[in-house]
Amino acid sequence: MTPRVALGMPRVPTSQDRPERDPADHESNSPGPSPHGLEEGLIDRFGRRASDLRLSLIDKCNLRCSYCMPAEGLPWLKREQLLTGDEVRRLVRIGVQQLGIRELRLTGGEPLVRQDLEEIIAGIRADHPELPIALTTNAIGLDRRAAGLRNAGLSRVNISLDSVHRETFAQLTRRDSLDKVLTGVSAAASAGLTPLKINAVLVRGANDHQAADLLSWSLAHGFELRFIEQMPLEADRTWKREATVTAAETRSLLSHQYRIEPAEEDRGGAPAERFTVWEKDAGAFSSPLGTVGIIASVTEPFCAACTRTRITAEGRVMSCLFSQEEVDLMDLLRGGATDTELARRWAEAMWAKPAAHGTDRPGFELPGFTRPERSMSAIGG
Ligand code: SAM
Ligand code: SF4
Repeated sequence: MTPRVALGMPRVPTSQDRPERDPADHESNSPGPSPHGLEEGLIDRFGRRASDLRLSLIDKCNLRCSYCMPAEGLPWLKREQLLTGDEVRRLVRIGVQQLGIRELRLTGGEPLVRQDLEEIIAGIRADHPELPIALTTNAIGLDRRAAGLRNAGLSRVNISLDSVHRETFAQLTRRDSLDKVLTGVSAAASAGLTPLKINAVLVRGANDHQAADLLSWSLAHGFELRFIEQMPLEADRTWKREATVTAAETRSLLSHQYRIEPAEEDRGGAPAERFTVWEKDAGAFSSPLGTVGIIASVTEPFCAACTRTRITAEGRVMSCLFSQEEVDLMDLLRGGATDTELARRWAEAMWAKPAAHGTDRPGFELPGFTRPERSMSAIGG
């Protein structure tokens, strides 16, 4: 039987966290112009401050994960529509120097499809010796590039891997490429692109029965596994809330084989709730085997603590994954604008960030929720 999914409630910010306006106050939901100068960074009208930049380098991908891409792919952006390496470097510089960006994640589509990835990273690293730079990738081709990426200045990788069983992997990604991914994973670990995180989406009837298997594999290799609840961001628009394998189900699936308990830590703006993992019959004083994370965007949303800002591969700011508004930076970038003009437009886009899930409260099935036009690969996950 398909389990019923309860609507998750967001964590509500404290009055200190939200000096501006209350998300529940409908009148406040028309953003208006920001009263702040750039010294406030990427603050929104609910008092959240974005310091974590997810920047997409390309929309194209060489896999076709069912929850992300249609089998036939998508109409890809032309090369000249993509941010160039220099434009990426400039945006990151503006983000870090003027807007309080403290962490960068390069993503896509599949960022390894960009042949100039090493050069882009080397440029960013030269500007920001201390900036944590992570890459979210499917790891195809990483075996040949991991060492070079590390030398260029990449800090670590998040690798998407939904199954370590060849047939299940092929079913989910529509490509028989598990071997390539696994060699990519090993190369990343050998190159020191650590802590290496594995991202997995559970799809009911496809890989949900392998959740504990994937955890065993990750623990054995010293990787940190994170399960991500499937969101309505697939290109073929087939998402149904009841088909999402929830965080609660995931915990229960893992508990057949392991004992897991919430890790005692302040989660801050981290999307994943972390759990400490023990053998199922471990005694009270035994050492844990490691940790596992669960990103419950659907059933236990964390919008109130969000610290993310996104830029798409063609240079548009998306303040939220589910934002209906996109704010173009490319016309400024290519039209001779100053860094301060770019910073202002970026900050204005973030000021208008919606309270939750692109609207005024979280819930993908509530009135008011409209899917964004773009699917995950075209936004940058
Ligand atoms: N191609 C790279 C990869 O797969 O890691 C980077 C881009 S991909 C869009 C980034 C992440 O988004 C992946 O971990 C993927 O599992 C996740 N993702 C894609 N579609 C999703 C969906 N509908 N719901 C939840 N996560 C999704
Ligand atoms: Fe490609 Fe990543 Fe989307 Fe899979 S999740 S189709 S690897 S962009």
